[in-house]
Amino acid sequence: MEPPWSVAWTGEQAFRLQPSRDFPGKVELDQKQAPGVGEPIFSAVHVTRQRRGLADHRCHVCGELTAPGDRYIFPTASGGLVTMHDGSQQYGCNVPPMHRACAERARSVCPHLSRIDEPPLPCTSDEGRLIERTDVTPGLEGIAAELPPGVDVVLTCYRLYGPAFTETVLEARAQWETAARLRRRS
Ligand SMILES: [Zn+2]
Repeated sequence: MEPPWSVAWTGEQAFRLQPSRDFPGKVELDQKQAPGVGEPIFSAVHVTRQRRGLADHRCHVCGELTAPGDRYIFPTASGGLVTMHDGSQQYGCNVPPMHRACAERARSVCPHLSRIDEPPLPCTSDEGRLIERTDVTPGLEGIAAELPPGVDVVLTCYRLYGPAFTETVLEARAQWETAARLRRRS
């Protein structure tokens, strides 16, 4: 299987700043595009493709657009709960969605996903809100150190989902926990 579309390659280790298309008025980090050049770096997502995937609902695995009826995520393997101002928590996902077929393929060949081994969860009509991050997330420390001081640069982004889909994700995670506990016991 080809490496996932959103993985970075060693031939893509060049960055620049540009006005943001997705977050008007802000500056974003843009990464050189040369997928297939050098070696894939499975531990690193490509900054620009990750953003395009999340902004346009492009498939994490194949890079093509996902339609609302064929859009899936792995709720346990990806994302996390974001605490809101009122103390409530909402699910945020920093991994682009996948087609069902792509998700199933990834589940069988990706070491991380096959270890977790959870069914892909269909997205709902809640498309989430695209939220930018200007704080330094793991893997971007080196790049962040090179950025001009005092400028807020959009480094990554995620989709923040409302209470209903958050509840769906929490239920899926709880089911996975129960199944994992039973597997460990047998
Ligand atoms: Zn796909």
